[in-house]
This record gives sequence, C-alpha cells and structure tokens, in this order.
Amino acid sequence: MNKSYDMAVIGAGVFGAWTAHYLRQSGASVVLLDAYGPGNSRASSGGETRVIRMGYGADELYTRWSMRSLPVWQEFARRTGLKLFHRTGVLWLATEGDTYTEDVWSVLNRQGIQCERLGEEEVRKQYPQLKFDDVTWAVLEPESGLLMARLAVQAVVEDAVKQGVDYLHAAVIAPGGRGKLTEIKTQAGESICAGSFIFACGPWLKKIFPGLLGDRIFPTRQEVFFLGPPAGSSDFRAPKMPVWLHHSHRDIPYALPEVEGRGFKIAFDRHGPEVDPDHESRLVGPEAVDRLRAFLKEHIPSLKNAPIVESRVCQYENTWNGDFLIDHHPDFENVWLAGGGSGHGFKHGPAVGEYLSKLILERASGETRFSLSSKQRDQRRNVY
Ligand SMILES: Cc1cc2nc3c(=O)[nH]c(=O)nc-3n(C[C@H](O)[C@H](O)[C@H](O)COP(=O)(O)OP(=O)(O)OC[C@H]3O[C@@H](n4cnc5c(N)ncnc54)[C@H](O)[C@@H]3O)c2cc1C
Repeated sequence: MNKSYDMAVIGAGVFGAWTAHYLRQSGASVVLLDAYGPGNSRASSGGETRVIRMGYGADELYTRWSMRSLPVWQEFARRTGLKLFHRTGVLWLATEGDTYTEDVWSVLNRQGIQCERLGEEEVRKQYPQLKFDDVTWAVLEPESGLLMARLAVQAVVEDAVKQGVDYLHAAVIAPGGRGKLTEIKTQAGESICAGSFIFACGPWLKKIFPGLLGDRIFPTRQEVFFLGPPAGSSDFRAPKMPVWLHHSHRDIPYALPEVEGRGFKIAFDRHGPEVDPDHESRLVGPEAVDRLRAFLKEHIPSLKNAPIVESRVCQYENTWNGDFLIDHHPDFENVWLAGGGSGHGFKHGPAVGEYLSKLILERASGETRFSLSSKQRDQRRNVY
C-alpha cells in the first residue's frame, strides 16, 4: 500500500529543505524527494560556499529576509555543531555617484544593521590585495559572511529526517490534469500520496511545468573559479580578506575568501547563456579563463598567475527581474511552486521555508512580488 503524507516536497535544494523543515515543525507528516540528492553538483544549491549579506540596494524586502535568515542559519549551525557560517564580513566596493551602494548604506542604517563606511584611503590600506582605480569608498557589513552551501543543505535534510521527515532519492514525473492532485509518480514507478505538493525544483521548474514556466524561469550558466594563493599567505583569508562585491564594475565581480583550504573564490555576476541543468557540461571554457586572467592582472595582480585549483559551473534560475517565485500552481488547488532564486536565493532559505509553510498551513496572504502573475516573460533584472 502507498504511504500517504500531509505534504510532499519535491526538490531538496535550499528552498525545499527549509520548507520541509518548517512544515515538519508544524506537526505535518512530510516526504522530501530529490532526483540527484541534496546539494548535488547539478543543483543551484550545490558547490562549496554562498554569500550571506544584508545589503540589497534600496530593496528592503530582501534585506529583511536576510536579517530573518542569518540568525536561523547561526542557530542551526550551533545546534548541529557544524561550521556552516563564516563571519568574514562583506565589503561593498563603491565608486563616486554609486547610488546602489548609497542605498545599501541607508537601508543598513535604517534597519539598525551594523555597518562601517570606509573612505578611499582606508580601502587601499586595509585591502592592498585589491586594485580598483574607480573605488573611492566602501561599506563593510562586519557581521555578514559566507555559508557552506552543500554542507548546509545536506545538514538541513539530515536534521529534517531526524525530526521525522521521510527522504526519498527519486525523480518525480510532472503531474498532469487539474483540480486536486492526489498523488505523484516517480520514474521508478512508485506513487506518493499527499495532501499538498510543493515543487521546489530550482532550474528544473521550467522542465517540469513547461507550459506554465517554460518562458518564466531562465537558467543561466555561471562559471566560478577557486584560485590558489601563494604558499603560507593569509592575504586571501579572513580577516585580511572579507567577501567583497563591486556592483558597479562592468564585470560585476564578487569574491569569497579562502575557507577550508579550497582557494580564493571569484566569479562574475553577469548572466551566462541559457542551460539545461540535467545535461550542461560542468567544465569551464577557455574564454572564461582568459577573461579571468585579464581581470586578475588588472585588479588582483598578486594572483595574476595563481593556479586555478578548482572550478565549477553552476546555474542561476532567474525570473524576469530576480524576484522569487513562491505561489500556488494555478491549475491545482493543492500544488505550490517555490523557486526563482535568481543567483541570490541561498541565504534566504530559512525565510523562504518559513514564508511558504505559513502560506500553505495558515493560508496567509502572499507577497505580490513573489506571485506567478507578477512574472513577466522578458529578462529585465533589477534585483541583485
Ligand atoms: C554560481 C552561483 C553562485 C551563487 N551565489 C549565491 C550567493 O552568493 N548567495 C546567495 O544567497 N545565493 C547565491 N546563489 C543562488 C542560490 O544558490 C540559489 O538561488 C539557490 O540555491 C536555489 O535553491 P533551490 O532550492 O531553489 O534550487 P536547487 O538547489 O537547484 O534545488 C532543486 C532540487 O530539485 C531537484 N529536482 C529537480 N527536478 C526534480 C524531480 N523531477 N524530482 C525530484 N527532484 C528534482 C534537484 O535535484 C535539486 O536538488 C548562487 C547560485 C549560483 C549558481
């Protein structure tokens, strides 16, 4: 006989894992399924690390969600005894007339978030590793830092299982029909019955619901490099090196200090070409290496010839403007969609899980910006 649950969460990335956690906390029986495993190498939540920052320009909604999520991550790390968060600080490099970073500064102050404003000289003195002629000031968030991505997702799932969630390694077939969904089928032929179904499938959402989301989720190829600093050097580790971002630079670079000896991580936040998460090659291309070398020569000269000790190809799962998609499926009364992390969703995992479980369990009203109806079909990114 098939087992029946209150809730079935499909996708054990950071959104699905935290959603399963909060649903289970409410007392619901929950099954969590993933086709490739929590934090797998094809998932958007895979890989070593992710930035957690409070600044979002003028966009206070995401600042508030970061503020909500950071203490939850920290409490979870304490409870599990895992080093999931590194308080490296996050540095916003800014140029003259940089309104985005001015907004970061205003919002952080308005929200009472600890932050420091650095002048040109201070930036040069404190971070001599970096060479940006256009940078005239900066904002430092000393309490922010980075999360250990794959490890954290796997830990949230492991903990959910300890709390009574059933985890199944299985690929779910897209459901058909409309009205009330009673069961889903896996590719192995199992049926899972549940009262509600949450599809938290990241970049796969458009493949599962092509009619609905085929032109509303845009998975893009993103290449990430880890560079080996010189032997014995601590210049690219905290506290000498925080996470940093240079939002107004044409390449939109961001970097994370070395943790666990894996190298100094650097990437560019521009969207790459569209990809299929199942079949995309995870090897970086030679043009990306050339662009990286040119960037290093200009801006981080001491690493211009540093070996690439690791590289990754991941994908963003963008909505048209970068706002998340967290809403009801319009054809089913008991199916929910959670995704559209758009290159910045990881840090918000706890807030997403809490928000979605309230939507489902308390029939709370949703934020318009996360609704399906707000999702347009052309890409005009304005959430970073
Ligand atoms: C290179 C890169 C850098 C990033 N940097 C940051 C950052 O610094 N800070 C930040 O906050 N965010 C960052 N992000 C964004 C963030 O990582 C993502 O928004 C977030 O991880 C998305 O999580 P998700 O759970 O929605 O999707 P995913 O992690 O992709 O999870 C979806 C899961 O669904 C499973 N699945 C799919 N189809 C099926 C099926 N049919 N049946 C069963 N399971 C299925 C998959 O196996 C997968 O595990 C970055 C992303 C990338 C790629």
